[in-house]
Amino acid sequence: MGPWCPSNISDDASKGGIWLEGGKVYDVDGAFIKNLATFYNNTTWQMHNSTTGDIKKTLTQAECQAAANPNVGAEYKNYCVECLPSYVSTLTKTIYIPVTPVKLTSPVSFGAGPMAGPSVRGIAFNGVVFDAPAPVSAILGAYTLAPFDDAGGHINLGAGYHYHAATGKTTKIVQTDGHAAMIGYALDGFGIYENLNAAGVEDTDLDASRGHYDSVRGYHYHVAKAGTNSFINSLAGAYVK
Ligand SMILES: [Zn+2]
Ligand SMILES: [Zn+2]
Repeated sequence: MGPWCPSNISDDASKGGIWLEGGKVYDVDGAFIKNLATFYNNTTWQMHNSTTGDIKKTLTQAECQAAANPNVGAEYKNYCVECLPSYVSTLTKTIYIPVTPVKLTSPVSFGAGPMAGPSVRGIAFNGVVFDAPAPVSAILGAYTLAPFDDAGGHINLGAGYHYHAATGKTTKIVQTDGHAAMIGYALDGFGIYENLNAAGVEDTDLDASRGHYDSVRGYHYHVAKAGTNSFINSLAGAYVK
């Protein structure tokens, strides 16, 4: 896991993670932080000390907790938000996935809260969830940045480490027929595969959930491109409530 926030505007891409904007993936290196006011065309962005080049970032669990929530206070304006694995080392999550998927006549929408659909999209082979889109508008509205690491994940104290993008860094099962590699399971038990097949082409026959059938794999999904801050659009099958 990590890194997320570089420490100085001279840091290269190995010292930071990524940010997703307009469907594209950007390296969060020192230059990206330095350029934020131009990138977002808003001079309120100033995340570094213009004399030393040091980047303002959360440095403790208390700062992570205060800055990584939707009601982030003005005191964390222009912070790079970084929560460390040690803050959630005792957190456990249990995810139930049907062993035998059951396709429904109409898909289940994702939601949040007890009356809506699930927010988690699925799970990677390492046990990390493919989560709902990061609330980018709220993050940027507070003039904070909560980068993802190169694998598309970051941490908050409630969810632990979770993914917002499939960047190809997790375990995958390569398919022998040129089909895209498998990267995990959706919450309904159907397989999730990469965006592109072995020839670098995205399928064009996906349904509204981002799934389709073939004779080898049955029904399965293909994730959206990493820059979209999303994975699949809905669950075609039943999930465990
Ligand atoms: Zn998140
Ligand atoms: Zn496919």
